[in-house]
Amino acid sequence: MSKYARVIVDQSGGNAFDYEIPPALEGGVHAGSRVSVPVRNRSKRATVIELLDHSDAEGIRFLEAVIGERPVLTPVLIRLARWIAEYYCCPIEPAMRAVLPQVIRLGEVRRKTQLFARIVRAPSGEELDRFDEKAPKQAAVIRCLQAARAPLPIALLLKKCAANHQTLAPLVKKGFVAVEPEQILRDPFGDEKFLPTDNLVLNEEQKLAAQAVAEAIQARGAAAPILLHGVTGSGKTEIYLQAIQSVLRRGQTAIMLVPEISLTPQTVERFKSRFAASQESVAVLHSHLSGGERHDEWHKINEGRARIVIGARSAVFAPLENLGLIVVDEEHENSYKQEETPRYHGRDIAVLRASFEKCAVVLGSATPSIESYHNASTGKYRLLRLASRVDDRKMPLIRVIDLRQEGAQPIFSGRLCAAISARLEKREQSILFLNRRGFSTSLICPACGYVCQCPNCSVALTFHRAASRLVCHICGHTAAAPAKCPACADPKIRFLGTGTEKVEEAVARLFPKAVVRRMDADAMARKDAFRETLNAFRTGKIDILVGTQMIAKGLHFPNVTLVGIINADLALHLPDFRAGERTFQLLTQVAGRAGRGEVEGEVFVQSFTPFSPSIQFARHHDFEGFWQQEIEFRQKWDFPPFTHMALITIRSANQTKASFSAETLGRRLKEVLPPTTLLGEPAPAPLEKARGEFRFQIMLRAKAIVALSRRLREVLDKLTFPEDVIVTVDIDPYQLL
Ligand code: ADP
Ligand code: ZN
Repeated sequence: MSKYARVIVDQSGGNAFDYEIPPALEGGVHAGSRVSVPVRNRSKRATVIELLDHSDAEGIRFLEAVIGERPVLTPVLIRLARWIAEYYCCPIEPAMRAVLPQVIRLGEVRRKTQLFARIVRAPSGEELDRFDEKAPKQAAVIRCLQAARAPLPIALLLKKCAANHQTLAPLVKKGFVAVEPEQILRDPFGDEKFLPTDNLVLNEEQKLAAQAVAEAIQARGAAAPILLHGVTGSGKTEIYLQAIQSVLRRGQTAIMLVPEISLTPQTVERFKSRFAASQESVAVLHSHLSGGERHDEWHKINEGRARIVIGARSAVFAPLENLGLIVVDEEHENSYKQEETPRYHGRDIAVLRASFEKCAVVLGSATPSIESYHNASTGKYRLLRLASRVDDRKMPLIRVIDLRQEGAQPIFSGRLCAAISARLEKREQSILFLNRRGFSTSLICPACGYVCQCPNCSVALTFHRAASRLVCHICGHTAAAPAKCPACADPKIRFLGTGTEKVEEAVARLFPKAVVRRMDADAMARKDAFRETLNAFRTGKIDILVGTQMIAKGLHFPNVTLVGIINADLALHLPDFRAGERTFQLLTQVAGRAGRGEVEGEVFVQSFTPFSPSIQFARHHDFEGFWQQEIEFRQKWDFPPFTHMALITIRSANQTKASFSAETLGRRLKEVLPPTTLLGEPAPAPLEKARGEFRFQIMLRAKAIVALSRRLREVLDKLTFPEDVIVTVDIDPYQLL
């Protein structure tokens, strides 16, 4: 028997502490158990990460209690948390927080229970007669329960019999009826019924890919991770579904990761329906679940009642045992990267977990990330390809429109306008895409050049027409839109730039008979709005859907034959080495929404830089070509995947303190790190100020990232910064602003 438990205390500095297991708890404490332990004179919650026979710690105290019936973390999940702390240069406590959801840690949200009544002893005929005579309501309750042949929720029972709790009490006392709490599970999909669907017959390409995935599943971790590069609509999801089925048949479990944004009712429905026939329960994990729903879904997984988990980034930590397969759909998506500590990348963790679990992992995308494709090209991953759409539907025709020749900066070029109008006549649907919400991007005074800026951030405020306010997209600050210039009082102050609201308004004005809806974070703020709009669009009640990237991903609408990309340049000119990659991905994904049915699709891409490689390669559906030139660029400048980057951000409301701390840290790093590691001096971040804080950056680069992380941790642990200065480290960063 192990005598000691090494634990990580919740909300602590992150060091592990040892506690002695009292004899009464012997055998009941495991790695992954939740426990309570004494810390100074208080009792705190903690997670056991290891059992020990010896401990050299001094002043060891006894562990107080075990919480819950079973461990909440598997050994692999504990190992992942430790790995994350080391690789991503963060203390272990936040890493533990990532692998274990807060609702489970707090254990606050109780299981929702309801009281049920059932017959324990059926009254004899005589007894029933007596009830009829003296207490007709009690007789009714008994008859109702007998007729139901099953326990009934007492609320329902009492309502049916027009009775109340006083009616019930004597029946319980006399031993006819028992009242017991029973747990009901909150299911985010409620009472919805899913019609079972059958497997589709795979085409030749799909068969080859499915075969390779099946081999990887059988190899139990001995096979390389698979990168499934399949154009949009090539039937990747069908392969995932069938692979998961085979995993279940082997008695194993599966995780399917999708980006938050494409975790639509449509996707979930497709999964639930496929597994409905086999009564297999699918657990869903994403950030819009209520605490209670998350709690229930999580326990459903932990107790083995659900063997398939579909979810966003954090579902990679789903507490499944005996994993057979992890799928990461749209593996190139940036939303897999967590933008707060610990800043892990869900796709990379999926690959790592698969190697720990000795199971198969499939990364799928129509536009693989440069990193993953590089891994495939060096043989680290196995590349599978689906080059054509299902049923040989054609890829949509992409036309690039040179906005420089359109004059007067219209929202829609003449050709796009004509195309929309033609679709309306044929009763086909269109999607108009612009990756910028709001009405216009800035309010500017033509007389003095004044721009309405956010007081907390170094960005201009966006005008939102619906709310009739100026809004900051970084911090959410809002202000009234001034009628005249606040600086020079000129009344001609005007709106510049275009957001989705303006597109919606303009298209509604141009085509007054069309039904137009907008889909972006503003329009979809209400809980069910997303679902309702998608349904209305799918059933043809909407002609034109205007939206941000919310509509770019994974949606499948057979009747959409036109996609208009209002401004393809938005992502292209950011100070970020991934700008080209992002633009190529976005254009390809948005274009993929067109022509998914019988009729061929057409895409119009409007741009002021129509000859940029991202746009031209996307236009020719040429991923290979794009990759070739991009990987050369990355190699030439020694960017990832040829090196790893680390971004240190130093921020404070006090500009001097922030800049001084950045310089101190920069000097210290210069002393201890090889000179090639530091990329320039500490400097103001491109987004110099956000949420009232001034931001400085230090950029590092190294081939051996774990060694760098360790050095960095040592330096940071030794330095003390002023209290109002916050230093964060981002390993393999995606947000360089
Ligand atoms: P992807 O995930 O690559 O975008 P999907 O799996 O969503 O592609 O497939 C696109 C459409 O084609 C879906 O409606 C799907 O039901 C259908 N489909 C997929 N595979 C087949 C097949 N083998 N035969 C017929 N239809 C298929
Ligand atoms: Zn702001």
